[in-house]
Amino acid sequence: MSKEYGLETKCVQAGYTPKNGEPRIMPIVQSTTFKYESSEQMGRLFDLQESGYFYSRLQNPTNDMVAARIAALEGGVGAMLTSSGQAANFYSIFNVCQAGQHVVASAAIYGGTFNLFNVTMKKLGIDFTFVSPYATEEELEAAFQDNTRAVFAETLSNPSLDVLDIEKFANAAHRHGVPLIVDNTFPTPINCRPFEWGADIVTHATTKYMDGHAMTIGGAIVDSGKFDWTQNDKFPGLTTPDDSYHGVVYTESFGSAAYITKATTQLMRDLGSIQSPHNAFLIGIGLETLALRMKQHCANAQKVAEHLEHHDKITWINYPGLKSNENYELAKKYMPGGTSGVVSFGVKGGREAATKFMDSLKLAAIVTHVADARTCVLHPASTTHRQLTDEQLEAAGVKPDLIRFSVGIEDAQDIIDDIDQALAAL
Ligand SMILES: *Cc1c(COP(=O)(O)O)cnc(C)c1O
Repeated sequence: MSKEYGLETKCVQAGYTPKNGEPRIMPIVQSTTFKYESSEQMGRLFDLQESGYFYSRLQNPTNDMVAARIAALEGGVGAMLTSSGQAANFYSIFNVCQAGQHVVASAAIYGGTFNLFNVTMKKLGIDFTFVSPYATEEELEAAFQDNTRAVFAETLSNPSLDVLDIEKFANAAHRHGVPLIVDNTFPTPINCRPFEWGADIVTHATTKYMDGHAMTIGGAIVDSGKFDWTQNDKFPGLTTPDDSYHGVVYTESFGSAAYITKATTQLMRDLGSIQSPHNAFLIGIGLETLALRMKQHCANAQKVAEHLEHHDKITWINYPGLKSNENYELAKKYMPGGTSGVVSFGVKGGREAATKFMDSLKLAAIVTHVADARTCVLHPASTTHRQLTDEQLEAAGVKPDLIRFSVGIEDAQDIIDDIDQALAAL
């Protein structure tokens, strides 16, 4: 789109503009392969000398339309869909970091991501130093090594709801000539635009608010196009010839889209965690109402949080939209329109009471999911974060009694009434 449209417009219009006589709705191109008249042309595609579709593991038109919509929402130069948020976070780092190298990561991250970093990627030879999301500049500085190749954090952490000081983390990364990669799943680009604060790469579990209807596991990586990979010799994968493509140099051939092109043509080609075109289509439909839904999620969550704040059966509550919250100022700066629909709290009676409370809910469902149109609830310490030790739980900001309450888009009073009757059962 030539004019810079607002986010609400991009949600429904970006990524697909039909020409005369073409379908109004983006088509699902459910095809593994694409036909060419000559094998010579096909060869040029394989060498990246010409652009075009040839095999859906690398690129597919439906996936590209949805990726373009996400890139437009984040304000990036390009994006790639992945089959899950896990794959997106793995690729986002593996694209610039290999065995023998190191990443500085916030400790306040999703349990699945923590496991990916701390167990699986360590086995691949990539080392991580975890820091507090509230680390001072000096503490951040001390976490870097000569072989550090990226900094990773969540803009609004799942489930501890810490708001990242994006500028501080970006400045630290840039002082060391490496990119800041942020997972922007919870706020979505509707509430937070990390590229405007210095982040270089954004990842998403589209599984959550972007899909919004709990239909489709998926992920995305978005490239801001702003990081200069040639400023030092830390990223030879981007700045020196790729033998697997007859010597292509990504920064020379693809300029500001070097990072995302390499992720597609090299990592996706070799590792293959692609999104199916049908699922991409569903994510595209979800994105159309993202702006509307986020407003309702945030308005409802604010009401729920304010209601619970002074409830006598609640021991503590965490919602960055509350004035009493330690993240209130950071949230106002980085997420002025609201944070997300997720509220966390503890109930009197600890772990046992938490279970009783959850089992008593009628409208809110106990599911592993979060960030869904329907209100849902989870106890992370016994589910998504159960692999973590007590120490790791504490570092991730997950109290053993934490209830993650994902406020949906229903009538706010119905949600509050449901909580009240479940608390009354304690
Ligand atoms: C859910 C989630 C992921 C993982 O996404 P999947 O699609 O489940 O693989 C990563 N990061 C955050 C912040 C998440 O909430």
